[in-house]
Amino acid sequence: MKNLPLILLGITILISSCKSDKYSYLNHSFSGIYPASEIIDEDGNIQIEPASAITARIEQSQLFFQNEVFTFIIEDDNDDFVLLSVERTLEGEKSILRFKYIKKNEELILLHEDGTTNISLFSDERILENKLNSFISVPLESNIEHLSENQHQMLKILFKVAYIMNDIFWIEAYGDKNQLMETTDNPVLRSLYAINYGPWERLNDNKAFLSQFGEKPAGANFYPKDISYEEFEAFDCPDKTNLYTVIRRTPEGDLKSIFYHEFFKEKIEIASALLLEAAALAEDEGFKSYLEKRSAAFLTDDYYESDVAWMEMKNNKIDFVVGPIENYEDHLFNYKAAHESFILIKDPQWSEKLSKLTSLLPMLQKELPVEARFKTETPGTGSDLNVYDAVYYSGDCNAGSKTIAINLPNDPMVRAKYGSRKLQLKNSIQAKFEKILVPISNVLIDESQRQYIDFDAFFENIMFHEVAHGLGLDYTINGNGSVREALKDNYSSIEEGKADILGLYIVTKLAEMGELGEKDLMTNYVTFMTSIFRSVRFGDASAHGKANMMRFYYFQETGAFTKNEISGTYKVDFDKMKTAMLSLTNEIIAIQGLGDYEKAGKFIEEKGFIRTQLQSDLSRLNELSIPVDIVFEQGPEMLGL
Ligand SMILES: [Zn+2]
Repeated sequence: MKNLPLILLGITILISSCKSDKYSYLNHSFSGIYPASEIIDEDGNIQIEPASAITARIEQSQLFFQNEVFTFIIEDDNDDFVLLSVERTLEGEKSILRFKYIKKNEELILLHEDGTTNISLFSDERILENKLNSFISVPLESNIEHLSENQHQMLKILFKVAYIMNDIFWIEAYGDKNQLMETTDNPVLRSLYAINYGPWERLNDNKAFLSQFGEKPAGANFYPKDISYEEFEAFDCPDKTNLYTVIRRTPEGDLKSIFYHEFFKEKIEIASALLLEAAALAEDEGFKSYLEKRSAAFLTDDYYESDVAWMEMKNNKIDFVVGPIENYEDHLFNYKAAHESFILIKDPQWSEKLSKLTSLLPMLQKELPVEARFKTETPGTGSDLNVYDAVYYSGDCNAGSKTIAINLPNDPMVRAKYGSRKLQLKNSIQAKFEKILVPISNVLIDESQRQYIDFDAFFENIMFHEVAHGLGLDYTINGNGSVREALKDNYSSIEEGKADILGLYIVTKLAEMGELGEKDLMTNYVTFMTSIFRSVRFGDASAHGKANMMRFYYFQETGAFTKNEISGTYKVDFDKMKTAMLSLTNEIIAIQGLGDYEKAGKFIEEKGFIRTQLQSDLSRLNELSIPVDIVFEQGPEMLGL
């Protein structure tokens, strides 16, 4: 009998190991979100309870939920799910919390007592897989048979320059790409890092995929990570705000400003030399001159002449947007331009169709459905509007949500004198239409209206969004300075909202004038509505995402659409949507014209987020694995080069 304690110990170990083995597949960390909700308080006012994160972790027979630890009991276990329950005491009251673990999804559902607002939590591994699956890969192709052998050779050189832009952007956005990739051999994470150019998720407010990476530095890698606003302000250097410098520390710990052509010297010199090689092969004189001037600009960081040359070329069949261009990557001060490139093949037929529309801009400005005092500015007509197939994206434009329309150059001095060029990237627009918009419409749009989902309408809505950025006002009418300065951090969401709704107005106006040929505007309206669901998925860290949330709730309040609660689908009311479009245009242009920072803020605060109902629509799209965005299968081999 002296061995009894040992035997008992053995049995205990056996039981607990059996138990933990049997349910070891439950051992995961899970996370999810409580969506924002509306609560009506005692005075009858609507209070908004913001969205919040929830986390859970199962380890052996313990459940860690928020900040509490419970021992759980298995209530049910079948082929599909395991039902767990824990007893919770909150303020002296006992209650039972139940969780359903769905085996095939690694999903833990927090069951609400009345079964209404169940919250899904997914395991960390599954969340990463879902994030990767939210991108669909599409090939970037174009017919280049009409181009000569010389032009094929030239394209090959442009690809080499594009790879260099990609390498430079990695350094600007994060730092050492190879070092980051070596931190994991998980292929899912590696792909996510590559898509995001770093360990932070661009379409989710730049949150880190793994907590070890902490927050993304607001100034990306353009500045020392520990720089403070005050230190930068006190830094006495005329080049510190230059678009084309990085800020670094000296060995003594002071700040210094270094121009790109010095900081990236080796890479930039190769890129510059390749541009000259490409220029030697160029057949279009305008394109040749642009490439030569761009080559020189790389070595000096003075881009003016090359921007002018880019605006002056008109007959090139190939275009190459290249260099440090947009300043979105610098969230600290918005000064620093990030490197990128697009290789583009012009679509002559579509470009021709659109070129005449630019001459209509002054008329459209005069016809804006707003008070006369808000339409006194004259839009430039030097601008042109062209359609391309994109055959390569690299760097900044390839990170986060993919650009499908470009409006360049950014230099206000060039724009004032030479106007700007709007480039519509037709094959990318088509990919987003087929892979994302159509599948969304099949879930969320009333069956009777799915016939109106139309590529031409989608293309027009996007094109006129770009045109609309050029209408309205750049300056407030009451001495508040430029609209951008007056609206500060609220500017981008309001401006994107303006471009969307005004774009729809322009389509309506042109169609009514007969400028768009035979067409049914209903296609533009239903496609526009569907695109709201597409864009709100970019999240509220994106100006486009926020603008679409605001419009969704504005449309809801004005009856522009109705929702069928049984089928969960939306139906556009053409007349009410048209009325809503006019009134929303008025509201937004008034906010801009008066530089009304407060009103802009109130509008964004009240409408610029996702509430319960819309969240459940978006969850349905995610459950059906409808992609959020596209990534590209791209390179010279896709063109047969
Ligand atoms: Zn825009």
